[in-house]
Amino acid sequence: MPKKEQLESLACTVRWCSLCELYFKRNSIVFGEGDPDADLMLIGEGPGKREDATGRPFVGRSGKLLEKILEYIGLARSEVYIANIVKCRPPDNRNPEDKEVQCCKSYLEKQIDIIKPKVIVTLGSTATQRLLGIKENISKLKGTWQEYKGIKVLPTFHPSYLLRKYTEENRMSVKSDFDKVKVVLAE
Ligand code: URA
Repeated sequence: MPKKEQLESLACTVRWCSLCELYFKRNSIVFGEGDPDADLMLIGEGPGKREDATGRPFVGRSGKLLEKILEYIGLARSEVYIANIVKCRPPDNRNPEDKEVQCCKSYLEKQIDIIKPKVIVTLGSTATQRLLGIKENISKLKGTWQEYKGIKVLPTFHPSYLLRKYTEENRMSVKSDFDKVKVVLAE
């Protein structure tokens, strides 16, 4: 089955998911979107208010910044695939809890399995720790290559952190992470 159809079929399953309590309060699931054949996959933490309202990942201010960062390496949003660790919004934008992450994990694993990206960029601590199953802080892991099932993973700051701490140093640091991504994508 083509990747697009595989993803659509998985999205149908997720739409009916009631495995954890996040489903009570969600308006929509935020499955993920982008090119099913993307070489680059970006993984965030979980939907915020706007994402919950629209059913699309990264549509707020952090999404705009993410698009700018992608532009920096010559990619349009439509050329990558964007997903989250959890598909439903945690109330008040709190971090997803262990049980919620566990319940949602197989969906993300299947997405990655279908897309088979060349590179995954994890956005922020939660996405990095949850995908890789490690506890180290983002400040330690940022910009260092990791691996998930044979796929290269580069952790970087979450765009909303970057918006909060929009310093020259942080901007340069994220640019340098994406320079590394660009090199690997071109190999
Ligand atoms: N933050 C995330 O981690 N994911 C989104 O989809 C939006 C904001």
